[in-house]
Amino acid sequence: MRTPLLAANWKMNMGRQAAHDLVNGLLKETSEVKDREMAICPPFHLLADVEKLVAGHPHVYLGAQDLHWEDSGAYTGEVSAPMLLDVGCQMVIIGHSERRAMFGETDETCSKKVAAAISHKLIPILCVGESLEEREAGKTADVVTTQLRGALTGQQIEKGSQIVIAYEPIWAIGTGRTATPEMANETMQILRKTLEEIFSAEIAQEVRLLYGGSVKPTNIAEFMACSDIDGALVGGASLKVDSFAKIVQY
Ligand code: PEP
Repeated sequence: MRTPLLAANWKMNMGRQAAHDLVNGLLKETSEVKDREMAICPPFHLLADVEKLVAGHPHVYLGAQDLHWEDSGAYTGEVSAPMLLDVGCQMVIIGHSERRAMFGETDETCSKKVAAAISHKLIPILCVGESLEEREAGKTADVVTTQLRGALTGQQIEKGSQIVIAYEPIWAIGTGRTATPEMANETMQILRKTLEEIFSAEIAQEVRLLYGGSVKPTNIAEFMACSDIDGALVGGASLKVDSFAKIVQY
């Protein structure tokens, strides 16, 4: 049984007051929801504030949007797994397509980051996804399984709950275009099969697979109705109480 997970990726948005209002509003609006979990992934400067706001809400995870694989050292501007733990994080996004496209993230760096997260008991939300050209060339399965194998082969986990995978077609992120639920579910099944090959059938069944790409209150239910979609990673629509609360209450 995989508990649904709705994860908010605030990206480089929000200040302290706005974060305070958003998290308090969300907790109020979703107080009746008990059968699913939420993750809030603010930018680094808001982690400590959001940690205080979600304390006492065990179904709400605090997540960062990136980390460095070393624990400490001369890496100006970087933040490590022990630092994220220190501020109360339980999750961390790794390999978001924006980091792959703009900041040189590769499957190799994702692999090191996933290893650092797992060894410090942070749950990585590993993002994979194809470009429009790759989808149109029929390469989706190839691209996402290569990304998955590149980041996960050799990782030591005992349970599927130690990792989360987000399938985010790049052409659907922030564009208003979404994959159809059938398209997304088909790719999820390919990912789950690959997880079975990397780890085991048991672990593959336990891993939560999130869909990401222009998820909104109006389309979340149809994604959540798919057999292999266990939640969503939400960018734009996670920045407003009303829209993210509706997504959580799908
Ligand atoms: C994302 O950034 O992970 C994302 C899915 O963004 P959006 O929901 O805005 O498409």
